[in-house]
Amino acid sequence: MLRRSFVLRLFSVLAAVAGSASTRIRAAAEAVRYGMGIQVEKCIGCGRCVEACKEENSVPVEPFYFRTWVERYIIRKNGVVVQSIDTRISPAQNPPADGQVLRSFFVPKLCNQCDSPPCVQVCPVGATFKTPEGIILVDEKRCIGCRYCIQACPYGARYLHPVKMTADKCTFCYHRIRQGLLPACVEVCPTQARIFGDLASNASPLTRFERMNTLHVLKAHMNTEPKVFYSDLDGEVR
Ligand code: SF4
Ligand code: SF4
Repeated sequence: MLRRSFVLRLFSVLAAVAGSASTRIRAAAEAVRYGMGIQVEKCIGCGRCVEACKEENSVPVEPFYFRTWVERYIIRKNGVVVQSIDTRISPAQNPPADGQVLRSFFVPKLCNQCDSPPCVQVCPVGATFKTPEGIILVDEKRCIGCRYCIQACPYGARYLHPVKMTADKCTFCYHRIRQGLLPACVEVCPTQARIFGDLASNASPLTRFERMNTLHVLKAHMNTEPKVFYSDLDGEVR
Protein backbone atom coordinates (compact mmCIF):
# COMPACT_ATOMS: atom_id res chain seq x y z
CA MET A 1 0.00 0.00 0.00
CA LEU A 2 2.81 2.33 1.06
CA ARG A 3 4.68 1.47 -2.10
CA ARG A 4 1.62 2.29 -4.28
CA SER A 5 1.16 5.73 -2.71
CA PHE A 6 4.91 6.45 -3.13
CA VAL A 7 4.68 5.59 -6.87
CA LEU A 8 1.58 7.78 -7.27
CA ARG A 9 3.35 10.70 -5.55
CA LEU A 10 6.38 10.21 -7.77
CA PHE A 11 4.18 10.32 -10.87
CA SER A 12 2.46 13.53 -9.74
CA VAL A 13 5.85 15.20 -9.01
CA LEU A 14 7.16 14.15 -12.46
CA ALA A 15 3.96 15.44 -14.11
CA ALA A 16 4.31 18.78 -12.31
CA VAL A 17 7.96 19.10 -13.40
CA ALA A 18 7.06 18.21 -17.01
CA GLY A 19 4.13 20.67 -16.86
CA SER A 20 6.29 23.55 -15.68
CA ALA A 21 8.94 22.74 -18.34
CA SER A 22 6.33 22.81 -21.12
CA THR A 23 4.93 26.08 -19.71
CA ARG A 24 8.46 27.53 -19.86
CA ILE A 25 8.90 26.38 -23.46
CA ARG A 26 5.50 27.85 -24.40
CA ALA A 27 6.32 31.13 -22.61
CA ALA A 28 9.66 31.31 -24.47
CA ALA A 29 7.89 30.80 -27.83
CA GLU A 30 5.33 33.45 -26.95
CA ALA A 31 8.05 35.91 -25.97
CA VAL A 32 8.90 36.44 -29.65
CA ARG A 33 7.78 39.90 -30.80
CA TYR A 34 8.35 40.57 -34.46
CA GLY A 35 8.82 44.08 -35.77
CA MET A 36 10.35 45.99 -38.67
CA GLY A 37 12.77 48.88 -38.90
CA ILE A 38 12.90 51.27 -41.85
CA GLN A 39 15.90 53.48 -42.60
CA VAL A 40 14.32 56.29 -44.57
CA GLU A 41 17.65 57.66 -45.79
CA LYS A 42 18.50 54.34 -47.43
CA CYS A 43 15.28 54.02 -49.45
CA ILE A 44 15.82 54.88 -53.12
CA GLY A 45 12.19 54.43 -54.18
CA CYS A 46 12.95 51.54 -56.56
CA GLY A 47 9.67 49.81 -55.60
CA ARG A 48 11.20 46.30 -55.58
CA CYS A 49 9.66 45.69 -52.17
CA VAL A 50 6.20 46.51 -53.54
CA GLU A 51 6.63 44.19 -56.53
CA ALA A 52 8.03 41.34 -54.38
CA CYS A 53 5.14 41.69 -51.94
CA LYS A 54 2.54 41.59 -54.71
CA GLU A 55 4.16 38.49 -56.19
CA GLU A 56 4.67 36.67 -52.89
CA ASN A 57 1.21 37.35 -51.49
CA SER A 58 -0.91 37.33 -54.68
CA VAL A 59 -1.93 40.94 -54.13
CA PRO A 60 -4.13 42.07 -57.07
CA VAL A 61 -1.93 43.55 -59.80
CA GLU A 62 -4.16 46.58 -60.36
CA PRO A 63 -2.91 49.86 -58.90
CA PHE A 64 -4.26 50.91 -55.50
CA TYR A 65 -4.14 47.40 -54.00
CA PHE A 66 -1.05 47.19 -51.81
CA ARG A 67 0.15 45.36 -48.72
CA THR A 68 3.18 47.64 -48.72
CA TRP A 69 3.74 50.81 -50.70
CA VAL A 70 6.28 53.63 -51.01
CA GLU A 71 5.47 57.34 -50.78
CA ARG A 72 7.65 60.17 -52.03
CA TYR A 73 7.60 63.28 -49.86
CA ILE A 74 8.61 66.54 -51.52
CA ILE A 75 9.03 69.34 -49.00
CA ARG A 76 8.56 72.60 -50.90
CA LYS A 77 8.87 76.16 -49.61
CA ASN A 78 5.10 76.53 -49.90
CA GLY A 79 3.99 73.13 -48.59
CA VAL A 80 4.36 69.34 -48.75
CA VAL A 81 3.58 67.13 -51.75
CA VAL A 82 3.10 63.37 -51.22
CA GLN A 83 3.20 61.03 -54.22
CA SER A 84 2.52 57.30 -54.18
CA ILE A 85 5.25 55.57 -56.18
CA ASP A 86 4.17 52.83 -58.59
CA THR A 87 7.22 51.81 -60.56
CA ARG A 88 5.11 49.56 -62.83
CA ILE A 89 3.41 52.68 -64.18
CA SER A 90 6.36 55.07 -64.17
CA PRO A 91 9.78 55.22 -62.50
CA ALA A 92 10.11 57.59 -59.55
CA GLN A 93 10.72 61.03 -61.08
CA ASN A 94 13.12 63.54 -59.57
CA PRO A 95 11.25 66.54 -58.17
CA PRO A 96 11.36 69.61 -60.47
CA ALA A 97 14.51 71.74 -60.02
CA ASP A 98 12.56 74.99 -59.67
CA GLY A 99 14.38 76.26 -56.60
CA GLN A 100 11.28 75.60 -54.44
CA VAL A 101 12.21 72.12 -53.19
CA LEU A 102 13.83 72.01 -49.75
CA ARG A 103 14.21 68.23 -49.60
CA SER A 104 12.64 65.03 -50.89
CA PHE A 105 12.75 61.43 -49.70
CA PHE A 106 10.90 58.10 -49.84
CA VAL A 107 8.90 56.51 -47.03
CA PRO A 108 7.96 52.82 -47.30
CA LYS A 109 4.71 52.01 -45.49
CA LEU A 110 2.85 48.86 -44.47
CA CYS A 111 0.69 47.49 -41.66
CA ASN A 112 2.34 48.52 -38.39
CA GLN A 113 1.34 45.27 -36.61
CA CYS A 114 0.08 47.46 -33.77
CA ASP A 115 0.26 46.14 -30.22
CA SER A 116 -3.03 47.91 -29.53
CA PRO A 117 -4.78 47.45 -32.88
CA PRO A 118 -8.10 49.22 -33.52
CA CYS A 119 -8.75 46.83 -36.44
CA VAL A 120 -8.95 43.90 -34.01
CA GLN A 121 -11.17 45.81 -31.60
CA VAL A 122 -13.83 46.64 -34.20
CA CYS A 123 -14.10 43.30 -36.01
CA PRO A 124 -17.60 42.00 -35.18
CA VAL A 125 -16.82 38.33 -35.90
CA GLY A 126 -13.28 37.96 -34.50
CA ALA A 127 -11.82 37.42 -37.98
CA THR A 128 -8.94 39.81 -37.27
CA PHE A 129 -6.72 38.60 -34.47
CA LYS A 130 -3.22 38.80 -32.97
CA THR A 131 -0.88 35.78 -33.10
CA PRO A 132 1.33 34.88 -30.10
CA GLU A 133 4.22 36.56 -31.98
CA GLY A 134 2.28 39.85 -32.08
CA ILE A 135 1.33 39.71 -35.76
CA ILE A 136 -2.16 40.80 -36.78
CA LEU A 137 -3.80 38.39 -39.23
CA VAL A 138 -7.16 38.04 -40.98
CA ASP A 139 -8.96 34.69 -40.98
CA GLU A 140 -10.44 34.70 -44.50
CA LYS A 141 -12.96 32.02 -43.59
CA ARG A 142 -14.47 34.17 -40.85
CA CYS A 143 -14.22 37.60 -42.50
CA ILE A 144 -17.61 38.84 -43.73
CA GLY A 145 -16.17 41.80 -45.69
CA CYS A 146 -17.97 44.44 -43.59
CA ARG A 147 -14.99 46.87 -43.97
CA TYR A 148 -15.09 48.01 -40.30
CA CYS A 149 -11.38 47.19 -39.89
CA ILE A 150 -10.51 49.09 -43.08
CA GLN A 151 -12.18 52.19 -41.70
CA ALA A 152 -10.69 51.73 -38.22
CA CYS A 153 -7.05 51.48 -39.38
CA PRO A 154 -5.47 54.95 -39.05
CA TYR A 155 -2.69 53.99 -41.48
CA GLY A 156 -4.73 52.98 -44.53
CA ALA A 157 -2.98 49.61 -44.36
CA ARG A 158 -6.02 47.46 -45.30
CA TYR A 159 -8.06 46.96 -48.44
CA LEU A 160 -10.95 44.76 -49.46
CA HIS A 161 -9.70 42.01 -51.76
CA PRO A 162 -11.73 42.45 -54.97
CA VAL A 163 -12.07 38.70 -55.63
CA LYS A 164 -12.20 37.16 -52.16
CA MET A 165 -14.24 40.10 -50.76
CA THR A 166 -12.36 39.80 -47.46
CA ALA A 167 -10.05 42.28 -45.73
CA ASP A 168 -6.40 41.96 -46.71
CA LYS A 169 -3.13 43.50 -45.50
CA CYS A 170 0.53 42.84 -44.71
CA THR A 171 1.26 39.80 -42.51
CA PHE A 172 5.06 40.33 -42.31
CA CYS A 173 4.94 37.30 -44.69
CA TYR A 174 3.83 35.10 -41.78
CA HIS A 175 4.10 31.96 -43.96
CA ARG A 176 7.79 32.78 -44.63
CA ILE A 177 8.93 33.88 -41.17
CA ARG A 178 7.50 30.69 -39.64
CA GLN A 179 10.02 28.85 -41.84
CA GLY A 180 12.88 31.10 -40.72
CA LEU A 181 12.80 33.19 -43.92
CA LEU A 182 12.67 36.98 -44.14
CA PRO A 183 9.56 38.83 -45.37
CA ALA A 184 9.79 39.16 -49.18
CA CYS A 185 10.12 42.98 -49.06
CA VAL A 186 13.08 42.75 -46.68
CA GLU A 187 14.79 40.05 -48.72
CA VAL A 188 14.72 41.97 -52.03
CA CYS A 189 15.53 45.49 -50.81
CA PRO A 190 18.84 46.35 -52.56
CA THR A 191 19.85 48.94 -49.95
CA GLN A 192 18.79 47.09 -46.78
CA ALA A 193 16.41 49.94 -45.99
CA ARG A 194 14.13 47.41 -44.29
CA ILE A 195 15.24 45.43 -41.22
CA PHE A 196 13.21 42.58 -39.77
CA GLY A 197 13.64 40.87 -36.43
CA ASP A 198 12.53 39.90 -32.97
CA LEU A 199 12.17 42.88 -30.65
CA ALA A 200 12.49 40.55 -27.66
CA SER A 201 15.95 39.27 -28.64
CA ASN A 202 19.13 41.20 -27.90
CA ALA A 203 20.85 39.45 -30.82
CA SER A 204 18.28 40.48 -33.41
CA PRO A 205 19.30 42.95 -36.16
CA LEU A 206 16.19 44.94 -35.29
CA THR A 207 17.26 45.33 -31.66
CA ARG A 208 20.71 46.46 -32.85
CA PHE A 209 19.02 48.98 -35.17
CA GLU A 210 16.89 50.14 -32.22
CA ARG A 211 20.00 50.61 -30.02
CA MET A 212 21.92 52.59 -32.64
CA ASN A 213 19.21 54.97 -33.88
CA THR A 214 16.62 57.42 -32.66
CA LEU A 215 13.40 55.83 -33.82
CA HIS A 216 9.91 57.12 -34.49
CA VAL A 217 6.58 55.48 -35.23
CA LEU A 218 3.81 56.88 -37.42
CA LYS A 219 0.87 58.65 -35.73
CA ALA A 220 2.20 57.99 -32.21
CA HIS A 221 -0.66 60.12 -30.82
CA MET A 222 -3.16 57.40 -31.86
CA ASN A 223 -1.73 55.10 -29.14
CA THR A 224 -1.86 52.07 -31.41
CA GLU A 225 1.68 51.05 -30.35
CA PRO A 226 3.08 50.31 -33.83
CA LYS A 227 5.90 47.79 -34.30
CA VAL A 228 7.26 49.40 -37.48
CA PHE A 229 10.01 51.83 -36.48
CA TYR A 230 11.55 54.54 -38.66
CA SER A 231 14.96 56.19 -38.42
CA ASP A 232 15.69 59.57 -40.06
CA LEU A 233 11.96 60.32 -40.12
CA ASP A 234 11.09 63.89 -41.13
CA GLY A 235 8.50 65.60 -38.91
CA GLU A 236 6.34 66.19 -42.02
CA VAL A 237 5.62 62.48 -42.51
CA ARG A 238 2.12 61.45 -41.49
FE1 SF4 B 1 -4.53 47.05 -37.77
FE2 SF4 B 1 -3.91 49.18 -39.28
FE3 SF4 B 1 -2.50 48.69 -37.00
FE4 SF4 B 1 -2.22 47.10 -39.15
S1 SF4 B 1 -1.66 49.30 -39.02
S2 SF4 B 1 -2.50 46.42 -37.00
S3 SF4 B 1 -4.28 47.08 -40.03
S4 SF4 B 1 -4.67 49.22 -37.15
FE1 SF4 C 1 12.94 51.46 -50.70
FE2 SF4 C 1 14.05 49.03 -50.40
FE3 SF4 C 1 11.49 49.26 -51.14
FE4 SF4 C 1 13.44 49.90 -52.86
S1 SF4 C 1 13.06 47.87 -52.02
S2 SF4 C 1 11.60 51.07 -52.44
S3 SF4 C 1 14.94 50.78 -51.46
S4 SF4 C 1 12.41 49.90 -49.19
